[in-house]
Amino acid sequence: MKYIGAHVSAAGGVENAPLRAHEIGATGFALFTKNQRQWNSKPLTDENILGFKEACEIHGFSMDAIIPHDSYLINLGHPETAKLKKSRDAFLIELQRCEQLGIQKINFHPGSHLSKISEKECLARNAESINIALDQTEFVKAVIENTAGQGTNMGFRFEHLAEMIEQVDQKERVGVCIDTAHAFAAGYDISTKEGFLETFESFGEIVGFDKLMAMHLNDSKKECGTNVDRHDSLGDGFIGWTPFEMIMKDDRFNGIPLILETPNTDRWSEEIEKLKTIEKG
Ligand SMILES: [Zn+2]
Ligand SMILES: [Zn+2]
Repeated sequence: MKYIGAHVSAAGGVENAPLRAHEIGATGFALFTKNQRQWNSKPLTDENILGFKEACEIHGFSMDAIIPHDSYLINLGHPETAKLKKSRDAFLIELQRCEQLGIQKINFHPGSHLSKISEKECLARNAESINIALDQTEFVKAVIENTAGQGTNMGFRFEHLAEMIEQVDQKERVGVCIDTAHAFAAGYDISTKEGFLETFESFGEIVGFDKLMAMHLNDSKKECGTNVDRHDSLGDGFIGWTPFEMIMKDDRFNGIPLILETPNTDRWSEEIEKLKTIEKG
């Protein structure tokens, strides 16, 4: 069983997201639980929380099938103490909001070293940030997303993900989300059958499928190895349909949210329908 969906809008309140996901035929979804471009936001109200839980139940969304994305402003590997603290405080709020909503996991990008500390030191700061947040929350899992390696952003190699996980104390509460466009831009050529198999064999060895807690399904407007993060609709970019067909037919990707972050929202229902058809195949 696969949970297939998209990163839907939470405009007007988180309680509106499940219906939007339902309307495009999704069986899972992602959302922002607060404005992703602002540091501050109003706390969730009882109306938000109860409304969200009720809408998930009405539309049949399992909590396993939902994975919010944190704010783009947060840098959990920031080289400067005051700014690192600001990011850590904001990250804790993101996790607390998930727990209020009953959501089991949250997805975020590792931070950037900004050329002021080493890659190793940046990865260690990221891991420490995760430890601090997990210590202050109950159950939500921290799901690290691989990146395209733009600028000084860490997490573009599977080894980076493994190195962070290694330093997290509560191992059962940390996992990863693999974004296909980011992996491709970072140099993992998943566009061919051989490349896909090789990439995920190495993923299995370095990180492990037991740590795979979500996938972002995106094609890429940029070529393999360019380190540029530009998503495209499935089949329209340099990746093509091959890896998406393979994911849908591979049991290692069962039971986790498979989320579209493709740019043309009008095509989400069509993309989801096609993925479902391939799965049933
Ligand atoms: Zn992301
Ligand atoms: Zn992503």
